Amino acid sequence: MTRVLFPGSFDPITKGHMNVIEQASDLFDEIVIAVLQNPEKGKGFFSLEERLELIEKIYEKSDKIKVISGDKTAFELAILNKCQAMLRGIRDVKDYVEEDRLQKVNRCFSNGEVKTVGLFAEGDYQYISSSLVRFAMELDKPIDKYVHPYVKEKMIQKKYRKDDEYGCK
Ligand code: ADP
Repeated sequence: MTRVLFPGSFDPITKGHMNVIEQASDLFDEIVIAVLQNPEKGKGFFSLEERLELIEKIYEKSDKIKVISGDKTAFELAILNKCQAMLRGIRDVKDYVEEDRLQKVNRCFSNGEVKTVGLFAEGDYQYISSSLVRFAMELDKPIDKYVHPYVKEKMIQKKYRKDDEYGCK
């Protein structure tokens, strides 16, 4: 049984993340998606629970994909969940440099136990990021090309509920 941990902020999950998950499904028996809070990225758009619920809903029919969260680090979760490796997506040189730094840290902190598998973004998915989706949403631009319809629906709901709370719209 091959199992890989895909850690990330997923705020929100995009079609770019989904393409990486699809590619990994051909390579691994099970993919454990770990929704984590990245302290460098601030509070974010969705709460951790909301991000987790979105991913669970999208993959509810897939028995290959599990979703977890928690306040542990990615390499600790990889060990706890008996994952042979950590999965990361690479879009460009900037991602490559950052992912290389992270894979070294994770390998070192886990005494060589946690390795990293990097998969390249395909075609048009390459330029999609969660921050692009949040920005497009802020400007009321279409986000259909970037996210699953369920994510779009929840983003619209959340955005207008938020605006209501502040009395702005
Ligand atoms: P993090 O806060 O860990 O960067 P993200 O949710 O932004 O979390 O990304 C999780 C992983 O998915 C990272 O390895 C990132 O490079 C990868 N990723 C994000 N968007 C894409 C995309 N469009 N194509 C391929 N990989 C992607």
